[in-house]
Amino acid sequence: MTVTVTNSGPDAATGGDPPALAASDVTVSFGGLTALSLVSLDVSRGSIVGLVGPNGAGKSTLLAVLSGLLRPDSGRVRLQGDDVTDVSARLRASRGLARTFQQPELFMGLTVREHLVLAHRARVVPHRMWRDMLDPRALFMNSPGENEKVDGLLELLRLTHVAKAPVAALPLGVIRLVEVGRALASEPQVLLLDEPLSGLDLHGSENLITVFRRIVDQSDDGLSLVIVEHDVAAVLALSNSVVVLDFGQRIAVGTPEDVRSDPVVRAAYLGDAEPPQRANADRPPPGAGSRPGGDSG
Ligand code: ADP
Ligand code: MG
Repeated sequence: MTVTVTNSGPDAATGGDPPALAASDVTVSFGGLTALSLVSLDVSRGSIVGLVGPNGAGKSTLLAVLSGLLRPDSGRVRLQGDDVTDVSARLRASRGLARTFQQPELFMGLTVREHLVLAHRARVVPHRMWRDMLDPRALFMNSPGENEKVDGLLELLRLTHVAKAPVAALPLGVIRLVEVGRALASEPQVLLLDEPLSGLDLHGSENLITVFRRIVDQSDDGLSLVIVEHDVAAVLALSNSVVVLDFGQRIAVGTPEDVRSDPVVRAAYLGDAEPPQRANADRPPPGAGSRPGGDSG
């Protein structure tokens, strides 16, 4: 039997591998409101794609479509070239798609290490997580290779020194790292991050950005990230390619350089001002997060 993989976007033109994740012509309406209109996006293997745009632009809606929480009215989503538009979020997760949420969903009494152990076991032995949750003694019975894997994750995220600390005692920046660690424990091909820097101070967000670059660069199997973020300067500094949404439309796509100099983006989103340098950039630039003219309606 011959299987034909239909590519979309630039990789199709070069005849290379299909993108790790791709959306093509995705449209989503909520009642009379068009949240996304014919939006396409390609995430190449081993790349970081930044998704930016003012509040209400459709960023979270697009992440929901990519992760499988929301079915688009039209358009397709492909994971490693396979059409997964009708595949549930749970099955997409088992096929290499992970995500973190804006609000951390952690068990405040458990330590950093215990969170990673549980996440690792949920992949290796899915039913075991429930036994571990119900019987505290089970948490101490290691599965083969577990310590090595969890220690590697702690080291990758530079969390070894807080491994035994309950997460309740930790600052938000560290909690975000634990969330990233839990997602990575499932050994995803693509990780979706919704506003991972929100609420962090400059030090916390710079640390997280360094970690994002490191987890992609050190990945053996070409991990890609899609990062939705308000902090435009951070996204431009971190991403290999950037997609800009405005009122549900993709108004620009390209390298950070392309996007930074795009007159449409500058007018619609950057308020026609250079994004601030990272040194002052822990807050969105003026105009980000509100509509030009402030009449969002
Ligand atoms: P962003 O994440 O870029 O701020 P969203 O994707 O959350 O934007 O929202 C895009 C638009 O869709 C907004 O106008 C928002 O109010 C609307 N919207 C999002 N989710 C829903 C929903 N579940 N029901 C109705 N409208 C929604
Ligand atoms: Mg959002």
